[in-house]
Amino acid sequence: MRLVLLGPPGAGKGTQAKRLQDHYGIAQISTGDMLRAEVAAGSPIGREAKAVMEAGQLVSDDIIIRMLGQRVEQPDAGKGFILDGFPRTVPQAEALDRLLAEKRMKLDAVVELAVDDAALVERIAGRFTCAKCGTGYHDTFKPTAVAGVCDVCGSHEFTRRADDNRETVTARLEAYHHQTAPILPHYEAQGLLRRVDGMADIDEVTRQVEQVLSRQPTAI
Ligand code: ADP
Ligand code: ADP
Ligand code: ZN
Repeated sequence: MRLVLLGPPGAGKGTQAKRLQDHYGIAQISTGDMLRAEVAAGSPIGREAKAVMEAGQLVSDDIIIRMLGQRVEQPDAGKGFILDGFPRTVPQAEALDRLLAEKRMKLDAVVELAVDDAALVERIAGRFTCAKCGTGYHDTFKPTAVAGVCDVCGSHEFTRRADDNRETVTARLEAYHHQTAPILPHYEAQGLLRRVDGMADIDEVTRQVEQVLSRQPTAI
């Protein structure tokens, strides 16, 4: 199965992508995670992307498309994948169409997680992640069971993203509405777009996404 998860920053793409990865045994491909790894490694891509990400703007299509092209070649993507945070512009969506056509592959569905802007600011401001295993949490909506201890791996170390602050969120939402939302009609025209109410709680969103996908004939 090959999916795209679409939605504004903080909509729950990463949270749901992890669950889909476990449920269907397909690879979660997050361009945001890949870019943060490049920044942490101080690579040429990371050096170019750092300031752009901190300003809440989009990294250039060239870099992203090249990075994604290499990533889908990896063996773990062979059984399928969930694209989380890609495509984010019309040129990226068109590049993905070409890439899949070359490989004689198709997307099964594009799932849009719809969330109000007002809710996103709170989701982003409260987001934190286990530094060891990458499990995502939220101060209010998904706290750890024991304060300061990761439920999954027991680590005591957590990170918050440099761009998860109220000022940058505004720029990121603007980038979403101006540059990313125009790809919704692109997928609607292909008959691939499925809309899910991302305002519901985490488990309910998972149920709705899985329900949408269970009605889906699997593409080649
Ligand atoms: P979010 O949680 O806001 O959806 P991501 O982790 O997906 O954030 O992305 C973080 C940042 O990385 C974005 O604000 C942007 O600067 C950059 N980025 C990630 N994916 C892309 C992409 N497909 N195209 C351009 N920039 C991207
Ligand atoms: P994205 O990848 O779209 O930026 P995340 O999956 O990282 O979003 O979710 C953003 C924050 O909101 C995280 O702290 C996460 O725990 C929390 N969250 C995710 N889905 C929901 C939901 N349905 N209701 C409440 N909080 C949520
Ligand atoms: Zn952990």
